[in-house]
Amino acid sequence: MRAFLALPFVALFGLAAWQEPTAATVELELVYLANEGFLVRAGEHSLVIDAFVTEPYGEYAAVPAALFADLLSAKPPFEDIDLALASHAHRDHFQAKPAADFLRARSATRFLSSPQVADELLSELGEHSAAGRIEALLPEARETLAAPAAAVHVELLRLPHTGGARTAEVQNLGHLIELGGVRLLHVGDADIQTEDLAGYALAKRALDVALVPYWWLGNAAGVARARELTGARHLVAVHVPPAEVAAVKAHLAALDPALLLFERSGEVQKLVLAR
Ligand SMILES: [Zn+2]
Repeated sequence: MRAFLALPFVALFGLAAWQEPTAATVELELVYLANEGFLVRAGEHSLVIDAFVTEPYGEYAAVPAALFADLLSAKPPFEDIDLALASHAHRDHFQAKPAADFLRARSATRFLSSPQVADELLSELGEHSAAGRIEALLPEARETLAAPAAAVHVELLRLPHTGGARTAEVQNLGHLIELGGVRLLHVGDADIQTEDLAGYALAKRALDVALVPYWWLGNAAGVARARELTGARHLVAVHVPPAEVAAVKAHLAALDPALLLFERSGEVQKLVLAR
């Protein structure tokens, strides 16, 4: 099964979205890792987000060992990764050991996340020189912080974690990512209901794609709110437990056939976007 999972599987992104790339289009490639973890590639640039999960956590998946080995050794599709991001320190999004292994192996990649994540990673790395490539940033509520200038432009948002007071201590970051002419939003485990999220007025940011937890999309009102909040042309449902993929797929298809979903680690979807 591992060998099969490691083979990228190319799926169509909905008939209307597909066309051959031309001068007036850009291509976004998403490779699904696990939960909310992706490789994102557009134009010359690529990054990974929530990629460092090698032990399953509860009902949630880990990145398969063979796929993670390709990530460490820069095998396609994981060549030339500019930046690694992590939304928050929960184990289904970030684990310090695989993150440290990655930074030791990939000396050209910077790592950017919250202080909570960075502290765990720094203590795992110890004195290793890779520690110098870690940046920790934390915007205040409703503020945005732009990461230091780089090929990939990232704005960090402070989005309260789903779960209210129970998870208030968690530094959950949203990421507004611009690379290769594509704008993408990753919200981590953000709560769809908070005013903090609505206050960012993300619908004004001309987003191409928003990756959102599938529990945002539980019914028609949720889908409508996710569309209104993000304004994104394409919504991708993420963080689906493997045991629920088939049921979630059927549910989303019935709600709105335009919603996108990844079904297995290593799956590749390419989206051609008009400019
Ligand atoms: Zn979480």
